[in-house]
Amino acid sequence: MHKKLFIPGPVEVRPEVLEKMATPMIGHRTKDASQLQREISELAMKLFYTKNQILLSTTSGSGLMEGAIRCCTRKRAAVFSIGAFGDRWFKMAQNNNVPADKIDSEWGRPTTPEQVDAALSTGKYDLITITHNETSTGVMCPVEEIAVVMKKYPDVIWCLDTVSSMAGTKIEVDALGVDICITSTQKAIGLPPGMAICSISEKAMNAARQVEFRGTYLDLVELYDYIQKKDYQYPSTPSLSHMFALRYQLNYIINEEGLENRFARHLEMAKRTRTWAKTYFEMLADERYASNTLTTIKNTRGINVGDLNKKLGERGFMLSNGYGALKEKTFRIAHMADCTLAEVNELLGHVEDILGLK
Ligand SMILES: *Cc1c(COP(=O)(O)O)cnc(C)c1O
Repeated sequence: MHKKLFIPGPVEVRPEVLEKMATPMIGHRTKDASQLQREISELAMKLFYTKNQILLSTTSGSGLMEGAIRCCTRKRAAVFSIGAFGDRWFKMAQNNNVPADKIDSEWGRPTTPEQVDAALSTGKYDLITITHNETSTGVMCPVEEIAVVMKKYPDVIWCLDTVSSMAGTKIEVDALGVDICITSTQKAIGLPPGMAICSISEKAMNAARQVEFRGTYLDLVELYDYIQKKDYQYPSTPSLSHMFALRYQLNYIINEEGLENRFARHLEMAKRTRTWAKTYFEMLADERYASNTLTTIKNTRGINVGDLNKKLGERGFMLSNGYGALKEKTFRIAHMADCTLAEVNELLGHVEDILGLK
């Protein structure tokens, strides 16, 4: 039996989108391939609220995260971490011999504008990374406030991980001044895993050109220059299947559902889940910074999350245990992509029933 996924990626994918993945292949050096990739870029620019160039990568989101920190750090990176994915970005810096420092927040708390200001005022850093929506803790950082601080440091490259939030909440890349904004297909966008998308500013490109060793497959300069020269084609063979599905889904998100409607639907599901979490458990996140795409719930009743998921599985549902050290101490309910409030209510009803919460 298929289990309906309420985990923070992969998510449920609409059948129409899955069908697009089965589109017959085209040559990746054809006009049709150029057209496909150009259309995706134009649609993604609307989703990202940017005029910057869009790059696609046949990797999951981690690929572009690694490429960004490696290619664009000239001096030293400040990696702000509020959980598992910030820690991962720091590890990528270390493994690529990129000088970096990690600035941690307590799990459940966001990165603050004060932390960013304190780090950048030292003058040590020329790149920062921020996790917009930390999928381990369910925290969303106040990027509008951080953007105000970033205006004081116009030479610093700002990389933002929006892997679990893009298409689930409004992220205005150009208004914020984000240089590299990264996401993947398998979260709020609602596609199968396997492709990453980013926007990249001229400033970030100029920084990257000053870095000598940028690797090859994830060299952002190579990708950027190639698509300029070859009419949106990529240096190696991309996942065309994802591209067919992505063009279809971005069209749906922007022109059928509408961005504002989509963001409002996500907020409605988030509010419902937070209220539920506070009724029966507690939230891990400080509620002012609670994520709009997933809720991390403290296991204050000492339930066995593994068992709960097994029983949910028998009913055709799946939620997510806590991440890493938070396993069994928390559990997570994702409410993202094309999930509806009615489906969230259905899941919560089953959880109440299984745990005897009524
Ligand atoms: C899932 C996730 C990642 C990793 O993305 P992949 O597409 O799995 O490589 C990075 N950051 C955040 C916040 C995530 O939720």
